[in-house]
Amino acid sequence: MFDNLSDKLDKALHVLKGHGQITEINVAETLKEVRRALLDADVNFKIAKEFTNTVKEKALGQNVLTSLQPSQLMVKLVKDELTELMGGDTEGINLSGTPSVILMSGLQGSGKTTFSGKLANYLKTKKTKKPLLVACDVYRPAAIDQLHVVGEQIGVEVYSDRGNTDPVAISKAAIAHAKANGFNVVIIDTAGRLAVDEQMMNEIAAIHKAIQPQETLFVVDSMTGQDAVNTAKAFNDVLNFDGVILTKLDGDTRGGAAISIKSVVNKPIKFIGTGEKMDAIDVFYPSRMAERILG
Ligand code: GDP
Repeated sequence: MFDNLSDKLDKALHVLKGHGQITEINVAETLKEVRRALLDADVNFKIAKEFTNTVKEKALGQNVLTSLQPSQLMVKLVKDELTELMGGDTEGINLSGTPSVILMSGLQGSGKTTFSGKLANYLKTKKTKKPLLVACDVYRPAAIDQLHVVGEQIGVEVYSDRGNTDPVAISKAAIAHAKANGFNVVIIDTAGRLAVDEQMMNEIAAIHKAIQPQETLFVVDSMTGQDAVNTAKAFNDVLNFDGVILTKLDGDTRGGAAISIKSVVNKPIKFIGTGEKMDAIDVFYPSRMAERILG
């Protein structure tokens, strides 16, 4: 069995027992363990290094509270700092428009369509909203079918226009349809590709400009680790999105992508996906993620 971080830090700090302060040598030892834990969780190397430097500054010279073991103090310091780095608190989505328009972005396979359905279901049941789902992938008929299946499953109407090859026109028509029929949230599922390319970026930028959504969300597969950071950066450069959705956290990833993405694009992670089913959605809690990353 692996030691958890607390046990590891206990070992690293054994020299310290009986001393009243955390010394530089002890801190260096323990921070090595912290950095290892972060790298194991797939956090970007540079970010892990910066993080441990920040913790080091804070730890040095701090009096060890008599009621706490030094290792516990270190674990608390690391967890608090990690939580802060991921945004501290939970973040909601902007539902102020009439209707509120939410644009989903991300690569193919990231979980956009699944999450669009989950979000519609969540808003419908938890926030008593009337959402409309919009299929805007004009390249893959199967993607339109998939959204219709999802819509049927959760009892939410899906707007699509199979003959139309212009996603901007589809989005605008969908919003008009929502206004005319009393939908107060419009969730637009867009086309994704397997890698970032210019055509996809131009297309989503055009939709974004034309409809001026209240909320633009970037969906990313947490299993993609380091690649997630580059993808997030590419989409943020074009869309200046409002929040991140981290999917597939039911897998065995520790979720280090959460820290890397937040550090690089500085946008809040708003929701997580924890399975294929429509109710496998949760608000993102930075403190819970910190615990998961540290193990
Ligand atoms: P899109 O191409 O971005 O629209 O991605 P999809 O929504 O089609 O999802 C791609 C695959 O990932 C599908 O097989 C989904 O069932 C699956 N998927 C999506 N979200 C999750 C999740 O949170 N956990 C798991 N295990 N699978 C997911």
